[in-house]
Amino acid sequence: MVNVKYPEVWDLDVFFPGGSASPQLIEHIESLTPKLEVLKEKVDKFEVPQNSDAALEIQSILESIKEVMLHISQAGAVLSCLTAQDTTDREALLLQGQLSGIAANSSPILESFNQKLGKIDQATFKALLETAELAQFEFILTEWREKSKESLSEEEEALISALGVDGYSSWGQLYNMLIGDIKVEVEVDGEKKLLSVGQANNLSSHKDRTVRKAAFDALEKVFTEREEFFAKTLNHLAGFRLAVYKKRGWDSVTKEPLQINRMKQETIDAMWGAITSRKATFAGYLQHKANLLGTEQLDWFDFDAPVTDSTATMSYHDGAEFILKHFGRFGSEMESFARTAFEDGWIEAEDRDNKRPGGFCTGMPLSEQSRIFMTYSGSMSNVSTLAHELGHAFHTYALRPVHPLNRRYAMNVAETASTFAEMIVADAAVEEATTEQEKIALLEDKIQRSVAFFMNIHARYLFETRFYEERKKGIVSTKRLNELMEEAQIEAHAGGLGETHPHFWASKMHFYITGVPFYNFPYTFGYLFSLSIYAKAKEEGKGFEEKYMALLRDTAVMTVEELAMKHLGEDITKEDFWLKGIALCEKDVAEFIALTSK
Ligand SMILES: [Zn+2]
Repeated sequence: MVNVKYPEVWDLDVFFPGGSASPQLIEHIESLTPKLEVLKEKVDKFEVPQNSDAALEIQSILESIKEVMLHISQAGAVLSCLTAQDTTDREALLLQGQLSGIAANSSPILESFNQKLGKIDQATFKALLETAELAQFEFILTEWREKSKESLSEEEEALISALGVDGYSSWGQLYNMLIGDIKVEVEVDGEKKLLSVGQANNLSSHKDRTVRKAAFDALEKVFTEREEFFAKTLNHLAGFRLAVYKKRGWDSVTKEPLQINRMKQETIDAMWGAITSRKATFAGYLQHKANLLGTEQLDWFDFDAPVTDSTATMSYHDGAEFILKHFGRFGSEMESFARTAFEDGWIEAEDRDNKRPGGFCTGMPLSEQSRIFMTYSGSMSNVSTLAHELGHAFHTYALRPVHPLNRRYAMNVAETASTFAEMIVADAAVEEATTEQEKIALLEDKIQRSVAFFMNIHARYLFETRFYEERKKGIVSTKRLNELMEEAQIEAHAGGLGETHPHFWASKMHFYITGVPFYNFPYTFGYLFSLSIYAKAKEEGKGFEEKYMALLRDTAVMTVEELAMKHLGEDITKEDFWLKGIALCEKDVAEFIALTSK
């Protein structure tokens, strides 16, 4: 037997031996119902307190919530690993259904607890937070209480959730059906092919311009034919959301996403303000790329076009060594953590059939381990993905000393550690590139990301805020949706865009996600926030790691404004902060233009 240093197949048996047929896993899921009953009993018995004597009782409820939460997460994580490694694992899918049914029963219990927190008078609440039992929960208890105060009554909120099953989230599901049903006819290399929307989108990086254009035209055509269905879906989904906001007395459509992401409107405005002020650089890159491709302006379908044909590869073993070496330059904890992940079977990387596409990282909170899923086929972008997911796992690792209820960070900071880790590896790859073509390809990869976050995502944000404002006044027509989208794209690309993609509002799934509203700006936030931390780390060298881990530990117990002030000494409601991260991306553009102008 050969001695494999870094196994490419993960170990799930340490959690529940035997995969989806594991009796321990089934037992674990079945044990959730009695755990929920215990919690429900405690919450039902809990009466709105009049003094701080209730601290012990609240602490006991929090411990029950923790218990339920950790067990649900553990089972959910293992099941998502099982279904990802083998999409034909029926047993795992069934168990997943069973688990989400049980997990859904926890929401009304938590809602009821929050409502009771909301009814505590301010002085008593303050006294409670000062007790030894509850001091560490100040942030989340305050957050839950504030949320319940801004909600309707318990009965009304329960009614909204019940009606939302058919009247809200089902619009999102209908969207998935509509998009899944589409077949796009595209001619590739003289052969007519029927493709899914995802497959047709993948042709956007095809080296042949006629193929890229054909795929784009075919998509626009298909969405034009079906635009009324998509417009109706989007209008009703938005209409339901707005009706709920109105009942709750919320004026601004960004109130909910800001609350979820624990941030202020000023911060988003400062971020977009800073980006907008530096857009000329990126519009310049788009124009330069158009010149390289021999076209007048960069059209939508040319964005992902390759400018070189570099195909550098790296074996899994070498990729692992590369990551370890460069993580090590930033800190010994990060390196030794990644070594454990590589050696102990935390990573599923093998290229084989029946695996789900894409990559993810998930934590197993009861075991204090993580698992990373991806398919490694040797490209440099695979190495980046691997580093990205290891970054997520490192975030979870950094949070280990923290109470589980204080580990639930929002999406905008979720990508901090992952982007940070990815950046280390992407930068190192550019530095160590052996040929100029490879260097150009790697640099462009980095710039593409900046363009996506600064321009594409900005267009989504502009479109969505404007669409929701208009939707308040009534149904928005398809013609108007197309106009709004084109305007947003032209504005967001600052003159760097040729042909627009007017039906992007129909093709992009993010506008139809009901679970998370405004699924756009947190991406850009996470990217730039992480870049500024990365810039600091480069300045300070190895000594920065301790500070970095302290920042990660605080990601779920304060607002992002407080987080940046406490750990970086930065005011992120000001454009100055954001400009520093953008400057790093501008350097990439300058280097790319210099290398490709010879
Ligand atoms: Zn990620």
